[in-house]
Amino acid sequence: MTRRIEMRCTYCGSTDVRHDASAEWDPEAQDWVLVDTYDHSWCNSDKCDGRETCSIAPFDIDTGEELREPPDSFEYIPKAEADVLWAAERERWMAERAARKAREKHEQHIGEIEKTLAAAHLPFGSKSESLDHSI
Ligand SMILES: [Zn+2]
Repeated sequence: MTRRIEMRCTYCGSTDVRHDASAEWDPEAQDWVLVDTYDHSWCNSDKCDGRETCSIAPFDIDTGEELREPPDSFEYIPKAEADVLWAAERERWMAERAARKAREKHEQHIGEIEKTLAAAHLPFGSKSESLDHSI
């Protein structure tokens, strides 16, 4: 069964919400036709009246459950389940970031060792080269 969704204001619960979009004139239909939707939504109820602080969220019409998109999917699932998946996703990002930082620090340390070794061997190398010329 396809989930039926409604958008509601999370502050006042109203379904009188609006969404940014653009339309183009359709001469066949003799009307403006929706061509694209953007990211911004707002509540149009008398209580909120377009306030920037309210947020619009999807809800399941049949169960009343608040919904969210899980990581890597555009199919809405119950918010509680999505929150668990997003928390795991954030932990994975943090672990990847920590591993990347550790790798960078390790590479930086190796770079410092290489510089130190190169600096220690350069005078020696120069001497042996000058010795070779004298032979
Ligand atoms: Zn509202």
